[in-house]
Amino acid sequence: NIRTRFAPSPTGGLHLGGVRTVLFNYLFTKQNKGKFVLRIEDTDQTRFVEGAEEYISETLDWCGLEPDESPIKGGEYGPYRQSERKADYRQYAEKLIEKGFAYYAFDTPEELEQMRIKFKTETNPSPRYDATLRAQMRNSLSLTEAETAELLAQNTPHVIRVKMPFNEVIQFEDMIRGVVHFNSSEVDDKVLLKADGMPTYHLAVVVDDYLMKITQAFRGEEWLPSAPVHILIWKHLFGLENMPQWAHLPLILKPDGKGKLSKRDGERLGFPVFSMNWTDPRTNEATQGFRERGFLPEAFVNMLAMLGWNDGTEQEIFSMEELIEKFSIERIHKAGAKFNYEKALWFNHEWIKKLPAEKLLPQVKKVFADKKIDTKDDKFLLKVIDLIKERCTLLPDFVEQASFFFQTPEIIDTEAIQPKWDEHKNTFFIELIRSYELATSFDAETLEHSFKEMAAASQLKPGALMLPFRIMLVGGKFGPHVFDIAENIGKEETIKRIKQGLQ
Ligand code: GLU
Repeated sequence: NIRTRFAPSPTGGLHLGGVRTVLFNYLFTKQNKGKFVLRIEDTDQTRFVEGAEEYISETLDWCGLEPDESPIKGGEYGPYRQSERKADYRQYAEKLIEKGFAYYAFDTPEELEQMRIKFKTETNPSPRYDATLRAQMRNSLSLTEAETAELLAQNTPHVIRVKMPFNEVIQFEDMIRGVVHFNSSEVDDKVLLKADGMPTYHLAVVVDDYLMKITQAFRGEEWLPSAPVHILIWKHLFGLENMPQWAHLPLILKPDGKGKLSKRDGERLGFPVFSMNWTDPRTNEATQGFRERGFLPEAFVNMLAMLGWNDGTEQEIFSMEELIEKFSIERIHKAGAKFNYEKALWFNHEWIKKLPAEKLLPQVKKVFADKKIDTKDDKFLLKVIDLIKERCTLLPDFVEQASFFFQTPEIIDTEAIQPKWDEHKNTFFIELIRSYELATSFDAETLEHSFKEMAAASQLKPGALMLPFRIMLVGGKFGPHVFDIAENIGKEETIKRIKQGLQ
């Protein structure tokens, strides 16, 4: 029974790399008919940010990556918020102490600061609490049993630290990287349980992966250095044979490949990095997301899947169903994937073209509503969507490309209508008005036919008349076929706009 999880800490908006982590967990799970769990890792109260958990849930909703178990949905292994599981963790930390793989540490913040100053050397500029120093500190390994008991009895503030062995090789097999080795001395004696009784990430992640029966976990490469700590805890608490398989996903890199993509890069280069708009409640700093920029969830997900994965063919456009079917861990690249915003736009354009108008309707309606433009009845809007979707890369482009279907343009560009204007052209349009007034059918084909016939009769080139006509109807030199526009805005409105253009 495959069970995977996404275990974010609610510390802010979700970076696109975070969403890709969700996606890979999700694809793997669905392919294997397993269960995908959302677990909120909120034990670090100092980093907790109001609204971040809701934001994560909304992103998963928007992307169609719905968890099978979550704080909202519940499930057999809940609660799914670590702050609500607080009571469980201490016993595991104590069990590790009993077995000799963790210890109490009573050092005060001042003493820790002292340690950093006292043991600082040229070769070791920031000394860490580890096997080389722990004997010099105040903990249950350096004190006598009686001293420790005494301190505990007095309720002396303390933490529980993992006892990392000195100079031992720790290894595991990563699903993407294969066998990864660490030297245990690379890692310090990480705190497992804090003075306030809250577990740190390292303890909670292991305990909960165990209790929630997680079998595989895809997570960001930044967690690789923590793996030796987790392996040790697994080994001594639950047995390595029960440890989930890990896949540490390669980083998403800046467009130039120089380092990890950050929110700042987006600000600097003018593209979103978060999934949706996010306003940090602490600073009020607002950041635009892919959703509000006008990306379709289908395109966003497709683009993320291709950041570090492909199916081995030239195919680039994949629906969620196809991704579930074709996803394979073997085809995840080991190297970081460069983010390319132009490519993201390309995916969106492809998806706008690909999806039927019905599917685009609610989102297109919303961009118009945001601009306070009434799109009237849905049937009409569906026709408009079909006429112009080829021309739209982002959802707000629909407003730019199609608002003239719903409101008379203010013609600012009269100059453009009337270069080389003369009596003949003027007369042509006055006659065109008359002819359109009399027209019994107002479809594009008939309109084009009579337009061209009249032009020929006046010995004018239709080409020289078409552009002014277009500008009268849409307000500029853009838009689909001009007679399609006339047909769709209708007789009355077409005539009104020609008259307006002639003034
Ligand atoms: N809580 C960690 C985070 O914020 C989870 C890392 C993991 O998946 O183990 O990303």
